Amino acid sequence: LEVKGKALFDEEGRAYRFSGIAQDVTEAYRLQQRKDEFISVASHELKTPITSLSASMQILQKLVKNDPSSEKIPTFVNKANNNLSKLINLLDDLLNVTKIQQGQLALNITRFDIVALIRDCCDYINFNSEHEFVLMGEDEVMIFADYRRIYQVMINLIGNAVKYSPQSNRVEITVYHDEENVTVSVRDFGIGINPEKLPHLFDRYYRVDAFGHQFSGLGLGLYITAEIVQRHNGKIAVDSNLGSGSNFWFSLPMDDRMVEH
Ligand code: ADP
Repeated sequence: LEVKGKALFDEEGRAYRFSGIAQDVTEAYRLQQRKDEFISVASHELKTPITSLSASMQILQKLVKNDPSSEKIPTFVNKANNNLSKLINLLDDLLNVTKIQQGQLALNITRFDIVALIRDCCDYINFNSEHEFVLMGEDEVMIFADYRRIYQVMINLIGNAVKYSPQSNRVEITVYHDEENVTVSVRDFGIGINPEKLPHLFDRYYRVDAFGHQFSGLGLGLYITAEIVQRHNGKIAVDSNLGSGSNFWFSLPMDDRMVEH
């Protein structure tokens, strides 16, 4: 509780009257604390790929000078590229948050098949992962939406399903629709989430147990994902059981008159 105001004192210096306001600052304090945490997490998250990129570049520089036909060169080029992609993704997330806060996340609505988009996402993520993606439900669902933004939503949800399920390699994605909405669910069989934490999951900077987190991340992915879904007049939700996995699902309106342009 924060109290702001003025006290009136008698001749002996005792306060006899107080006027002012008492304000609950717990929420503001929590956000500030999360921001402070975020700066330390973000610096660490940026430093890791930069350090690794710089090490790869130094090795490459030596190899190119002393042994230009070395078969190690492609491995280090790949490593450097992966770290560069990580950096680009981190910076994209930071820029997206700024755009959201300034109300500048513009949508570019076109008509496309969301099932084909999901197949492309699975192929892309599968490239770097051992996970098995099982796609169930509809074969084709044409929707009106922003292709690039919905791709980003799927990459975030599937990426989290993979990241937070080190003990299982199965991710199930289901697509179905009725007359009004298309619904996509992404289910994993991973670490799950404590039910008490569920209400905060889509908040900016929020990470379950931010300190001592064994997984990398900025705590921005779900915030951005929820914003994109809401901008499409859609809904997003999660069910989860600690220890046995999570199910994130979102639905989007099928009718383009429902989608803000
Ligand atoms: P992060 O960059 O930390 O992954 P997100 O915004 O994507 O940030 O997710 C916020 C937090 O929600 C994560 O830090 C993690 O604790 C939790 N979380 C998200 N997806 C899952 C999942 N599929 N299983 C378990 N926990 C999850």
